[in-house]
Amino acid sequence: MVKEMPTMIFCLGCSSYKSQLEAKIIFKTGFYKTTIPLGYCTACSEAELAMDAFLADASAATLEASLLQAYGH
Ligand SMILES: [Zn+2]
Repeated sequence: MVKEMPTMIFCLGCSSYKSQLEAKIIFKTGFYKTTIPLGYCTACSEAELAMDAFLADASAATLEASLLQAYGH
């Protein structure tokens, strides 16, 4: 029996291979090592979307403070 190749993506967020089951966004036009589609896994896509919403929302004045709050553990 021919088993289907496991379909992977290369997540740009965490820079690692993920199963497409974990993929949230898969780019049709970008490939890693020419065969692995680039994308974002679920966790990273949510972080990206959160960051987009955050950036759209934040003024330049509050941006730095908020970034420190978000990443300053
Ligand atoms: Zn990821």
